[in-house]
Amino acid sequence: MNLFESLVRPNVLKMKPYSSARDEFKGTAKVFLDANESPFPNGLNRYPDPLQRSLKAELGAYFGVYGEQILLGNGSDEPIDLLIRAFCEPNRDHILITPPTYGMYEVCANTNSVSVINAPLDLDYQLQTEALIERLNDCVKLVFLCSPNNPTGNLLDEKSILQITDATKGLVIVDEAYADFSGFSMLKHLPSRPNLVVLKTFSKAWGLAAIRLGMLIAHPDVLFWLNRIKAPYNINRMTMDCASQILNQKGTVAQQVQQIVEEKNRLVSFLESSVLVNHVFPSQANFVLVRFKDVQKVFQHLLSEGIVVRNRSNLPECLGCLRISVGLPAENNMLMQALRALERTQSL
Ligand SMILES: *Cc1c(COP(=O)(O)O)cnc(C)c1O
Repeated sequence: MNLFESLVRPNVLKMKPYSSARDEFKGTAKVFLDANESPFPNGLNRYPDPLQRSLKAELGAYFGVYGEQILLGNGSDEPIDLLIRAFCEPNRDHILITPPTYGMYEVCANTNSVSVINAPLDLDYQLQTEALIERLNDCVKLVFLCSPNNPTGNLLDEKSILQITDATKGLVIVDEAYADFSGFSMLKHLPSRPNLVVLKTFSKAWGLAAIRLGMLIAHPDVLFWLNRIKAPYNINRMTMDCASQILNQKGTVAQQVQQIVEEKNRLVSFLESSVLVNHVFPSQANFVLVRFKDVQKVFQHLLSEGIVVRNRSNLPECLGCLRISVGLPAENNMLMQALRALERTQSL
């Protein structure tokens, strides 16, 4: 029996999934006349593998998991949406999120008429574990945690995540979009916790935001339901080829991550010494959240210099804060020069 049969929505439990031509015939043949494709070879005329087995084998080897534990999506947003559609009954079930956090969990829930329970982070942007656990009930099917968290940049406490995972009857999803910069991952806990789900993306450290590739890693009993409802050929051939190429250049990616971390440290030291700044939040990601004394003035000044950062100052938990991504050394220098120039006008 599947471990999550009682968690999945009744319609998903009962439905007969779509079976594509490539699902029904998996062997090798002389001629393929089963999928109404064009027979003229151009490298892209055949449908891709609906389960992306070859790429998953490479990814599994890289991340130290089995291919059967991986689901690939069109960005991370697709797995987030699949989780909600597979497990949350509209107008009945809930997801739990920990604001301030990534906006897509709530948007996806709203799209699916699934309501959102908030368990806010504390003033250091850490989990309030007991208060969160009190908000769990049988209708809270999914708990979304983001570590390192966007927009705050900090890692969430490992013990707290495990406590929550053990306390809920639902799934705990840890979004590790920025984990490459932190060197920490919850992946090692998957074998002991079948209700733990890890999300990864190729959009940040891997430098492939344009190919739209996200990854969900979980127990095969979770994947069983997601694979049942996903679009048959959800990952295209070009995306798969591109991801496979980058996996063969992991050395380059690792160097880039190292350089971003060094640049971030340089930026943080600068910001900590700036009279414009109220507080620099500790970051394990490729961005920093900074509270400024006069956030509107700084934001407008940077814009006037052609420098765009993310204004998070309207989020109740991030009053006065800008989120600044770490760029190339020359780009970071431009940011710092613009801030120095503003400092000089302030001290006149
Ligand atoms: C950027 C980001 C993602 C990645 O989204 P994609 O759809 O994979 O590009 C996922 N989660 C968080 C928290 C992010 O900040």
